[in-house]
Amino acid sequence: MKPANKIWLNGKIAPIKKANLFSFHQGLNYGACVYDGIRFYKSASGSSVFRLNDHLSRFFYSASVLDMNLGVSKKEMAKVIMEIIRANKLSSGYIRPLAFYSEPKMGINIIGAKLTIAIFVWPWRDSSKVRSIKMKIVKTRRLDPATVDLKAKIGGYYANGLLGFIEARKSGFDEPLFLDVNGFIAEGAVNNIFIVKNKVIYTPKLNNILGGITRDSIIQIARQMGLKVYEKNIRPDFLRKADEVFLTGTGIELEHVSKIHGYFSQPKIAKSIFSDLKDEYRKIILGSDRKYKNWLTPIQ
Ligand code: PMP
Repeated sequence: MKPANKIWLNGKIAPIKKANLFSFHQGLNYGACVYDGIRFYKSASGSSVFRLNDHLSRFFYSASVLDMNLGVSKKEMAKVIMEIIRANKLSSGYIRPLAFYSEPKMGINIIGAKLTIAIFVWPWRDSSKVRSIKMKIVKTRRLDPATVDLKAKIGGYYANGLLGFIEARKSGFDEPLFLDVNGFIAEGAVNNIFIVKNKVIYTPKLNNILGGITRDSIIQIARQMGLKVYEKNIRPDFLRKADEVFLTGTGIELEHVSKIHGYFSQPKIAKSIFSDLKDEYRKIILGSDRKYKNWLTPIQ
């Protein structure tokens, strides 16, 4: 899949070829880059961006952790996001704001180095169909919160995700499941995990994972539906007793897990807590559940 043909780059809408992304810079060399992933959806009453303000708050937080001064306000950023969506003439898709230290500068001193800010837009696959995936608990452990600020989405952290991803794929699985350094379940490479047992939902506490915005949405939706949700430290053995496992993330929305190697197997989806939550989530993103109207920012 290729990105749409216009990019927002350092203050201007430009053709994608202007991005000229191959160069020597600290963003590439040290992963000194922050980003976020946001979806926009088409509904009967026009297109809207899902939880824009929350994604922008996370993006600005990530930038502050890497000492980046983005030089724009959240409000301005929201405005240019709308502009670049309109310029690409898409009614639904994925938005990726990205900021990275982009001076061809040798060494790790990023303080005060020049930044590039870009916003890519991608047409996105229809996530309404259920995808079922197989996972493996990988040897690589999740980054520890004592070593990095896990609340930030920093490019360099994804080297950890990649190691797990390579291990899972090379052993014939779709995605890795990471444990933290204490052996508790953490998350997937780019998704959060939920486990259902006796109609109660469990998900890892925020200490060893990225606080996904989809995760937060699902917790709120499930509680609103009258379901119990507990955020806890969870040992992998708990998976052996689980009835359902699913992942959440902006790109995938909700994804069914049919297998976790050696721990869990549930090929059936049919009528489940997963399918109820997925149906409700889709209603919300498409604007047909008015309770969650404030999660949608219309694209004008
Ligand atoms: N964990 C990690 C490490 C991620 O990169 C992502 C993707 N942003 C998630 C979880 C899911 O977060 P969200 O629901 O905000 O997309």
